[in-house]
Amino acid sequence: MDKLVYFFAKGQAEGSASMKDLLGGKGANLAEMTAIGIPVPPGFTISTRACNLYFERGRKMPEGLEGQVGQALTRLEKVFGKRFGDVADPLLVSVRSGAKFSMPGMMDTILNLGLNDQAVEGLARVSGDRRFALDSYRRFVQMYAGVVLDVPKHDFETMIAAAKKARRVADDTGLQEKDLEKLVAAFKKHVKKATGKAFPQDPVDQLWGAVAAVFRSWDNDRARLYRRQYGIPDDIGTAVNVQCMVFGNLGDDCATGVAFTRNPATGENVFFGEYLPNAQGEDVVAGIRTPLPISRAQAGGDGSGSLEARHAACYAQLLGIRDTLETHYKDMQDIEFTIERGTLYMLQTRTGKRTGLAALHIAFDFKEAGVIDTKTLLSRIEADMLVQLLAPIFDGKEKDRARKDGRVLGKGLPAGPGAASGAIAFTAERAVEMAKKGRPVLLVRSETSPEDLAGMVAAVGILTSRGGMTSHAAVVARGMGKPCVVGAEALRVEVEKRRLTAGKRTLKEGDFVSIDGSTGEVIAGSLTPHPSEIQQILVEKTLKPERSRLYGRYAQLMRWADDGRRLKVRTNADTPHDAAVARAFGAQGIGLCRTEHMFFAEDRIAAVREMILADDLAGRAKALAKLLPMQRQDFVGIFRAMAGLPVTIRLLDPPLHEFLPTTPEQFRRLGREMRVPAARLMERAEQLHETNPMLGHRGCRLGITYPEVYEMQARAIFEAAAKCAASKVEVHPEIMIPLVGTVREFVDLAGRIRAVGETVAAKTKTRVPYLVGTMIEVPRACLIAGAIAKEAQFFSFGTNDLTQMTYGFSRDDIGKFLPAYLDERILPVDPFQSIDQDGVGRLVKLTVEEGRGARADLKVGICGEHGGDPASVDFFHRSGLDYVSCSPYRVPVARLAAAHAALREDGTHGSTTA
Ligand code: ADP
Ligand code: MG
Ligand code: MG
Repeated sequence: MDKLVYFFAKGQAEGSASMKDLLGGKGANLAEMTAIGIPVPPGFTISTRACNLYFERGRKMPEGLEGQVGQALTRLEKVFGKRFGDVADPLLVSVRSGAKFSMPGMMDTILNLGLNDQAVEGLARVSGDRRFALDSYRRFVQMYAGVVLDVPKHDFETMIAAAKKARRVADDTGLQEKDLEKLVAAFKKHVKKATGKAFPQDPVDQLWGAVAAVFRSWDNDRARLYRRQYGIPDDIGTAVNVQCMVFGNLGDDCATGVAFTRNPATGENVFFGEYLPNAQGEDVVAGIRTPLPISRAQAGGDGSGSLEARHAACYAQLLGIRDTLETHYKDMQDIEFTIERGTLYMLQTRTGKRTGLAALHIAFDFKEAGVIDTKTLLSRIEADMLVQLLAPIFDGKEKDRARKDGRVLGKGLPAGPGAASGAIAFTAERAVEMAKKGRPVLLVRSETSPEDLAGMVAAVGILTSRGGMTSHAAVVARGMGKPCVVGAEALRVEVEKRRLTAGKRTLKEGDFVSIDGSTGEVIAGSLTPHPSEIQQILVEKTLKPERSRLYGRYAQLMRWADDGRRLKVRTNADTPHDAAVARAFGAQGIGLCRTEHMFFAEDRIAAVREMILADDLAGRAKALAKLLPMQRQDFVGIFRAMAGLPVTIRLLDPPLHEFLPTTPEQFRRLGREMRVPAARLMERAEQLHETNPMLGHRGCRLGITYPEVYEMQARAIFEAAAKCAASKVEVHPEIMIPLVGTVREFVDLAGRIRAVGETVAAKTKTRVPYLVGTMIEVPRACLIAGAIAKEAQFFSFGTNDLTQMTYGFSRDDIGKFLPAYLDERILPVDPFQSIDQDGVGRLVKLTVEEGRGARADLKVGICGEHGGDPASVDFFHRSGLDYVSCSPYRVPVARLAAAHAALREDGTHGSTTA
């Protein structure tokens, strides 16, 4: 028969830290702590296997479990010297859920299980404290009823509040024996009324009720939602820990607390935590009383309220355990402890969650102390965490002051890291207007849509009251590297009334508001954002590298990452400025330069429109002649910024109607400029209208129908390259044809491009080496990759379009059904954020294989959104790509993710989520 129960007591344990799959994180670490001699109350863990069997059997307890639990209970009684169910001196236990990954959505812990009407009096006698016994019983009834019997928790809280009011005390510690006696009676009566059954008095029934409730909670909505958000599989199950109770509520020489072995926000090597005197564990997190600081240093002043001052001996012991745990686990820990009448017990340890800043410093400190090696250091810093190091920040003290002044308006999702402070604008137009006057503007909307783009560009940050991490605002802001908070539900945005309300506070347009996109906080009034030190050094060049410890460590981290990776990292950049920023962040070239972004610029949109609306070739040629020198200049700037590195330039891609005016007034103005009646222009625009523009007249299809457009672009590229070469700037243009689906499309257009190249070479007498390749984004191109590779010198996966066309999902409309797809687990993640490895990824692999089969030195890269997503980078590494390309601020993320991918291949990079 399967072993389903694992015992731990007095320095010996059947489990260990490596058994998280079977024992859950909590159970595995309880076993480990026990085995290394840390004082842990004895207990046993019912394995995740038992939970999975429970569901397999249609929610019935697996065979043999009852017997194994019975045996474990007997052992527990022996080591603890008390009997479960003994009314004179009862053994009480806690029942704690604990899956492999820590999951806030799971069942709450039940404490003091084993109490009943008689045992409570026994406990009163042996402890000599009847108030304590009653306090424990009322907690037990309350937790058990709430968690196992589904009686609303709120009901009990109301009754406690009433008791406190009658007694005129603020804290539950002020309630007396009589009050608690009455509360217990009232609680039980309420349970009977709500469930139709008396509160269970048999401890064995209580135990099985609790175990079943933990198993069931694995499947509740909250837990499922959490698993979905964090990509935790549904079928791994939870373990159940049954552990002897120790009491932090036995008087003023007792306490309970939580701590981090180092500061989780800054990484500083100081003990950092909180505790409550005379309390049980739940009280610290529940926030019913304000906890006290753990150390004198943390308390400030004379440190008199601290644990260090009040429980000197236990504090010293705790410091020793802190060292033992850090040395043993080789990482910062998040711990729980309880002091019962001067004796310290440890109740939990796990890897502590930390900010990006803390992750960097902690890893380096451990490395410098000789505890971990370089590879471990690399694996300790999640690639995404780097975004936090690069984003602007608010000064911690200034933020604390704002918090104290009650200026926090609410909290939303941290959608775009970084701090921003600006005057509120409720519409995109207002944002643009206000920004033109030189004010920092924060765009505040209930949600954003593509029409808000100009406002988002003008704003220093974006705040919405609705939407999730993949809402339009969130995605666009991250793409722009702008601070953004979405879904701040506590805020009401009334655009017509031009006001923002949060509780009793109202802000008007023009008032200042501040957002911290790394935490989700929304604060009234202005705070000063400071560029990160890394940004000051690399981009603004206002800080000397040797003056920043943070930078020194960041730079070292990136050097190690670069040594360890195989994938190259390029950037998506359309301007010399973006190219320079990306290069400072370590980009090894441009993987995607979108020429249409240049077309939108104010000084040339008129010429672009003229070209589009021209009736004939002659008209188009005239307009293109105006565009040529401007494009040439753009490319010169970009080539210079990327001197010595490859630059992939994509020829015109979007459907032409995107460049056209939309309002009658805009048509009239354009008509005046072009000296053509507005009506004619509108008619022409009408002709360009398409039902499905994203599948319509765009990409290379434009090149086929209007070859002169691509020829102009090619000429601008070659002339710019020749000009740069003449001034000794090394250039490596890679000309990319978008949306190719047939070999003929490519051959036709590549032929024209090469012909232009010949002409320019002859004229300038300079021959610059270049490549012509294609973007792979139409599934058909994947299926004929071998044939295309015979003609094309490189492939670059445009994974946005490839995902769109492989799934048949319109990226612009996915918001209507994606949330349901994610909720129902039809999709594990948004495929536009993280590459679909099974479907789209299969096309990628096939394309690489057949492409390289036809041309061994075929260069292959990827330039979609996915290039900056660590999970996708890992996949591209495994698929044998040469490079990924992402937005400038994600370049460091991709570099580290690429190193992680290489480490994982080695088997030295485990999962960092504990
Ligand atoms: P969570 O996962 O929500 O932290 P836990 O199982 O860790 O839940 O328990 C909640 C609280 O109860 C913690 O503060 C924990 O330290 C405390 N606790 C759990 N078991 C015991 C026990 N046997 N004796 C004393 N306190 C306990
Ligand atoms: Mg806990
Ligand atoms: Mg595309």
